[in-house]
Amino acid sequence: MKIISMVSAMQSLAIQTRQKCRCIGFVPTMGFLHEGHMSLVRIARNKSDIVVLSSFVNPVQFGPNEDFDKYPRDETKDDMLCEREGVDIVFRPSADDIYTNDHSVYVEEEKLSTGLCGKFRPGHFQGVLTIVAKLFNIVQPHVAVFGGKDAQQARVIEQMVRDLNFPVEIIIGPIIREPDGLAMSSRNTYLSQDERKRAVNIYVSLCHARRLYEQGVRNTSVLRGKIREIIETDVQPSEIEYIEAVDYTTLQPVTIVQNITLVAVAVKVGRTRLIDNILIP
Ligand code: AMP
Repeated sequence: MKIISMVSAMQSLAIQTRQKCRCIGFVPTMGFLHEGHMSLVRIARNKSDIVVLSSFVNPVQFGPNEDFDKYPRDETKDDMLCEREGVDIVFRPSADDIYTNDHSVYVEEEKLSTGLCGKFRPGHFQGVLTIVAKLFNIVQPHVAVFGGKDAQQARVIEQMVRDLNFPVEIIIGPIIREPDGLAMSSRNTYLSQDERKRAVNIYVSLCHARRLYEQGVRNTSVLRGKIREIIETDVQPSEIEYIEAVDYTTLQPVTIVQNITLVAVAVKVGRTRLIDNILIP
């Protein structure tokens, strides 16, 4: 396994790899890897000859009062997990090499990124799209794999790839959960023992909404109301940012479930912001 930190070295290797007609699979991450990331590596490996995992905590996608400075890092463990999973290249650039002092070009999406997390994290998706576009130009993947846990992010990236004609196939992998159902996240490490116990009820509330749907409930205000009730009682969050039901294609709110609907929540448990979602049907 190669560990590359220079942008120029990564880009040259990508060009050479393409010249040899070898397919590049790419998994962008912010490091502090867990089984959710590794599931994406497995998908990438099945679809390509060379798997590149990038590890970069992208300063541009964090707001001024967010956790950029304390975002967890463990490069040794990350490298061990990557080695074990058969990653060929870990690309871990420095912020200075990615963003020069006079960097002034950003990628903006105007529709899908405005609701859900976009409403609460101004500038976040501009930061995400800018780094993903840059990484696509550096790593030059044929296939890139993203997690369904960040469903809005995945949709916004699909839209960028379509609208800006990036020659990359986007694959979205399923959400990987802890045995009790909590969606895996690097940020789960911030939770105290008590917060961790309460946090599992985020998924419990989504499962409850799914059961109501299966029993015939189609009105999303009923589904959202039940989710809110369980979250308020059992998660006891310090803040509920949103509990939304949106059309999966347009990410616009829906009142009745007809097409594939993304039911998504963002809450703060203590000081930790957690997101989760399910798709119904
Ligand atoms: P992050 O390191 O949190 O920026 O995540 C990097 C990639 O891993 C993104 O595409 C995430 O959606 C994905 N990811 C994070 N957590 C999970 C999870 N529990 N299951 C599946 N994919 C995940």
